[in-house]
Amino acid sequence: MRIIILGSGSYSGTPKPLCSCENCIRARKYPQYKRTRFSLYIPQIGALIDPSPDLHYHLEHLNLRIGKVFITHAHFDHVFGLPDLQIFKEITFYSHEKALEVAKHLQELFLGERKWKYVPLNFGKWYNFGIFKVKHFQVIHNPIDIAGGFILEIEKRKIVITGDTGPEILENKELIDEIEGANLLICEMTHKYSIPKTHLGVDDAIKFAQLVNAKKTVFTHISHSNYTHEELEDKVRDYGYIIARDFMHLSI
Ligand SMILES: [Zn+2]
Ligand SMILES: [Zn+2]
Ligand SMILES: [Zn+2]
Repeated sequence: MRIIILGSGSYSGTPKPLCSCENCIRARKYPQYKRTRFSLYIPQIGALIDPSPDLHYHLEHLNLRIGKVFITHAHFDHVFGLPDLQIFKEITFYSHEKALEVAKHLQELFLGERKWKYVPLNFGKWYNFGIFKVKHFQVIHNPIDIAGGFILEIEKRKIVITGDTGPEILENKELIDEIEGANLLICEMTHKYSIPKTHLGVDDAIKFAQLVNAKKTVFTHISHSNYTHEELEDKVRDYGYIIARDFMHLSI
């Protein structure tokens, strides 16, 4: 099965306009260092995880149909591309009802009436939709009350997406037990150092990956202020982990 990372960056993307840090300077010069806002695509079920503000650019390259959209949380960098989904007649959205309220509002505000479906998911509960099973788990991610990650089971493969999360996720033993040995872990690694209740830093993201011990681990949602791509690769090389790039294809 293939998974396509569409965007590997955080809320301001890399390069961030007017920023002159090393990552931003390099990304302006060499497109392979560019990081658009977090998003991924699962071709098997035509599912998009988080309609990033860069969705139009993602679709331009992807050129595939989207029928399902999972939303981790309703921060700008994870939902604001929603109006660009207007080219698809039938979409089903899956998330916590609070995030779906924002999604529905964006739809009504920019697109009016649509035949789109909104399926609320309670945290901590498995839902079986036939071709896939999903569990939405809650994470701590200030300054938003409701944020979560997903465990997706497709053809007996388990894909775990942390979404944006504070380092408190390392203490969620119940979650770690459930996802241990997953086929794929997509874990955020926003900053050099963790920000309590907000984002994971490099060391904590690696620690979490070690606890989960997935068959494949990819770090994403990387801020322009983090280490350079090569420095991050050096830090995870011994563990066999992967640092995401935009439009990277993963096979599991
Ligand atoms: Zn984010
Ligand atoms: Zn920068
Ligand atoms: Zn966020």
